[in-house]
Amino acid sequence: MKRERGQGQVPSGFAGVSGKIGAMTNDAEYIPKSAMSIHAHPDDQDFSVAGTLAKWAKAGCKITSVMITSGDSGSNDPSRDGSYKPELARLREDEQRAANAMLGVGETVFLRYPDGELVASVALRKDLTRVIRRFKPEVVVIGDATAVFYGNDYINHPDHRAAAEAAMYAVFPSAGTRMIFPDLLTEGLEPHNVKRLYIHGNEKPDTWVDISKTLDTKIAALKKHVSQIDTHDVDQWMHEWAEEEGKAKGIKYAEAYRVMVLQRDEEEVGG
Ligand SMILES: [Zn+2]
Repeated sequence: MKRERGQGQVPSGFAGVSGKIGAMTNDAEYIPKSAMSIHAHPDDQDFSVAGTLAKWAKAGCKITSVMITSGDSGSNDPSRDGSYKPELARLREDEQRAANAMLGVGETVFLRYPDGELVASVALRKDLTRVIRRFKPEVVVIGDATAVFYGNDYINHPDHRAAAEAAMYAVFPSAGTRMIFPDLLTEGLEPHNVKRLYIHGNEKPDTWVDISKTLDTKIAALKKHVSQIDTHDVDQWMHEWAEEEGKAKGIKYAEAYRVMVLQRDEEEVGG
């Protein structure tokens, strides 16, 4: 969705990080072999986690990018009505494909749910379970289903929360549990266990990914969303967000996450 400059997405309160979370989650230089980014709208990923995805892709990670809607409500042009939606969806899918090409994303998936009407339904969870079992990502990257307010000037879009909730529960328990959605088995989709879930936009991050070398790529990807973004301001805006997220750890430019480690590697278990 379109965001005006000044609408903060970076949550405050980074200083209040609790020390209760396991040490392995602070492994900022961890590079997965495969990852899947799941978001509600075209551009959500590129505002929030694209620096991390570009960094991982550069290091050889195979990335799948899933958009649940095609952003067909992303216009307030008074000369348009609902008949513009299919055209806008096609336009925004093209913008997202171009952005993903910048980032080095290998696969782009559109589930084509209606923009602005998303709920964390069992049907959506099943569709996400299907793509997770199909692509078998080691890591899934999402927004924060629990985030309602950011600062005092941005109410989190309900589609963002619904996307994050459905994706989180697709990761666990649905993707790895054989008897949930048994018809996926008849499609040939066996259970798959995601090892880590990266949650962006949480007030208590525990993992900071240094994106100093990929911030420019993130900005270039974002600028592909020409129907949504005032490209004039986006450079400064993205630098400010990345600085804000890195501040707590003294990193110049970062994307901050809460990371759930759902499955440890064997050496980690033995250690
Ligand atoms: Zn959005």
